[in-house]
Amino acid sequence: MAEQNTSDTTASAPVSDPAAAARRAMAWTHTARFLTTASRLDQLPPTELPEIAFVGRSNAGKSTAINALTQQKRLAFASKTPGRTQHINLFELGPRDAADALFADLPGYGYAAVSRSDKQRWQKVMADYLDVRRSLAGVVLMVDSRLGFTDLDRQLLDFVAPRLANGAVRLLVLLTKADKLNRRDADHSLQQVSDTLAALGTEASDIGVALFSALNKRGVDDTAVLLRAWVDSLRAPVAAIA
Ligand code: GDP
Repeated sequence: MAEQNTSDTTASAPVSDPAAAARRAMAWTHTARFLTTASRLDQLPPTELPEIAFVGRSNAGKSTAINALTQQKRLAFASKTPGRTQHINLFELGPRDAADALFADLPGYGYAAVSRSDKQRWQKVMADYLDVRRSLAGVVLMVDSRLGFTDLDRQLLDFVAPRLANGAVRLLVLLTKADKLNRRDADHSLQQVSDTLAALGTEASDIGVALFSALNKRGVDDTAVLLRAWVDSLRAPVAAIA
C-alpha cells in the first residue's frame, strides 16, 4: 500500500476487492482497547501476539494518527495523561476472547522541556524495547511531513536497523499532517524520506513510506490494510485470508 517501497513486499491482504479489504481492516483496528501501561520493559507482559509499535517525535501527530486509525477519539490520549507520558501503553486488537495483535504506543521523544536525565532514560528504554521485545513485528514511525527526519528519528532507525535488515521487524513511515502540504512539497517530502530509507533496505527488509493525514483521512485505510496484512502474514504465512 505504501506509496513507495524500498524493497519487495508480498502483502497477504486480499487484493481482489480493495474496498472490502479496507472495511475489514478498519473494523479490526476499531477493536483496539487499552490493555496495560508500563514504565519499564520488564513490566510489559510477555506475549505471543504480534506487536506493532507506534513511535515518533512528540507533536508529530502520533496520538491523532492512532485515534484516526482506530476510529476512537480518546484512545491514544490515554498516553498523554499526566504520569503516563513516559510509559509504553499497550492496546489489544481482535475479538475480545481471541485477541490477535497488540499496538504499543511508545512515548514521543524530543520534547524540549524534558530534562536531560529523562531524555537519556527514555532513549535507553526505546533502544532496549526495539532491540529486545521479542514479539515486535512492526514499527510505525510518525514523522511530520513538513520536517522530515530529525536526528532523533535517525537515532531510532539506528536502534531498529538490525531487525529491519533481517526482516524480523517491518517498518512503515507515515508522513503526517500531509494536508498542510501542497502536492509539490508532499512529493518532495516523500522523496527525501525515501532516500534515507533506501539505505536501510536489504533483500529481506520490508520498509514503506506513505503520506498521511488524520484531518482528511489520507492514508488511513491503506495503513490499516497494511498493518492487518503484517499480522495476517505472521498468523497464516501460506494461505491468504479472505
Ligand atoms: P503527538 O504528540 O505525536 O501525539 O501529536 P498529536 O497527535 O497530539 O498532534 C500534535 C498536533 O498536530 C495537534 O495540534 C494536532 O491537532 C495536530 N495534527 C495531528 N494530526 C494532524 C493532521 O493530520 N493534520 C493537521 N492539520 N494537524 C494534525
